Amino acid sequence: MGVLNVEKPAFMDIEELNIFEAAVGRFFDDHATPADVQRWRDNGVVDRKLWNIAGEAGLLGVSLPEEYGGSGGDFRHEVVIMEQMGLKGVEGFGITLHNAIVAPYINHYGSEEQKQRWLPRIISGELVTAIAMTEPGAGSDLQGVKTTAKKDGNHYVINGQKTFITNGQTANLICVVCKTDPTLGSKGTSLIMVETDEVEGFERGRNLHKVGQESQDTSELFFNDVRVPTSNLLGAEEGKGFVQLMQQLPQERLIIAIQGLAMIERALQVTIDYVKDRKAFGQRIIDFQNTQFKLAEAKTEATVAKVFVNHCTDLLMAGKLDAATASMAKYWVSDLQCKIVDECLQLFGGYGYMTEYPIGQMYKDARIQRIYGGANEIMKVLIARTL
Ligand SMILES: Cc1cc2nc3c(=O)[nH]c(=O)nc-3n(C[C@H](O)[C@H](O)[C@H](O)COP(=O)(O)OP(=O)(O)OC[C@H]3O[C@@H](n4cnc5c(N)ncnc54)[C@H](O)[C@@H]3O)c2cc1C
Repeated sequence: MGVLNVEKPAFMDIEELNIFEAAVGRFFDDHATPADVQRWRDNGVVDRKLWNIAGEAGLLGVSLPEEYGGSGGDFRHEVVIMEQMGLKGVEGFGITLHNAIVAPYINHYGSEEQKQRWLPRIISGELVTAIAMTEPGAGSDLQGVKTTAKKDGNHYVINGQKTFITNGQTANLICVVCKTDPTLGSKGTSLIMVETDEVEGFERGRNLHKVGQESQDTSELFFNDVRVPTSNLLGAEEGKGFVQLMQQLPQERLIIAIQGLAMIERALQVTIDYVKDRKAFGQRIIDFQNTQFKLAEAKTEATVAKVFVNHCTDLLMAGKLDAATASMAKYWVSDLQCKIVDECLQLFGGYGYMTEYPIGQMYKDARIQRIYGGANEIMKVLIARTL
């Protein structure tokens, strides 16, 4: 049990997962030290070799089937990785997007030939993945995507621009959301995989300067007459991309909630340690009733969040997590994350505003959680549809 008095749910508390958790913790202690994370921040990207090291350690594609070289794990293994990264302050390594957001598109909708072609290299770290939905003119409103994929014999010719793409400087296998028939709106949307090393006309734009999460290479991407074989289409027919996205987005939204919760737990832990140590007016900061009440409230809300997120994970494992419930987790936990991190920072006084203290970094990193993966307003739109 960590800083919250919530026992691991039975589906997480099994020996194999506990052993995996210890191994993942050791991996990040060894390969993502505070000095490593600072270097990644300074460079705006994690070291490319980390992907290969993670592949060798069996952390990539951890929930992919064994027949493609995966560990045959499931979403619980991804939860372990997310929690360990959050608790240890490992920032910017887009492993969860690779493992639990992009790989599932290939695993669920890819043909056997596509799975054989890409999954083993996703698992080894030879391929790093990204998903390119957002464009300068289309974020929340994905139906407005303007990138086109026109058929030309047995190829698609892709033209368009994407922005804010996680792993954008590193990824060499990108799931691109395109219009195969721009006259059909969402029904003309398809997902097409682009192996960037195999094509001409693909360019990476700026590695964008962000308020936080500086070690993540969130980037612009350009597609200028990029030709890919028609066999790179995900799914048996064109026009299924929107449905495929809608089916996978609940998992992506739950992931954001799990990551948010891990940061909340870390924020509480570092703050409790700090206020027990720091003194003012002859007493410890924790001895002021205001401090106790603020932290008691935060701990209570975090406990409620954890119980709900565990419930959502259980639903996801059973294939029953619907869009509205996932949206509740995403919006509510990310709002709570920003609130708790802000209140924790306050308890650090001026030191909280110094980047050398982890709470200041958390304050910067947390803010985007309310925007990406579907802005929280869009989450409320989805929930409201069920009223
Ligand atoms: C660090 C980072 C990483 C990202 N990673 C990826 C990635 O890997 N792949 C990818 O494709 N995208 C990625 N994104 C993009 C992200 O998903 C979008 O920024 C997000 O979906 C919002 O789109 P937008 O920025 O265009 O905002 P807009 O859609 O322009 O929204 C602006 C504001 O209007 C509000 N709004 C819009 N529509 C409505 C409505 N119907 N009702 C009420 N309010 C509304 C929004 O909630 C928001 O507050 C990333 C973004 C960032 C910053």
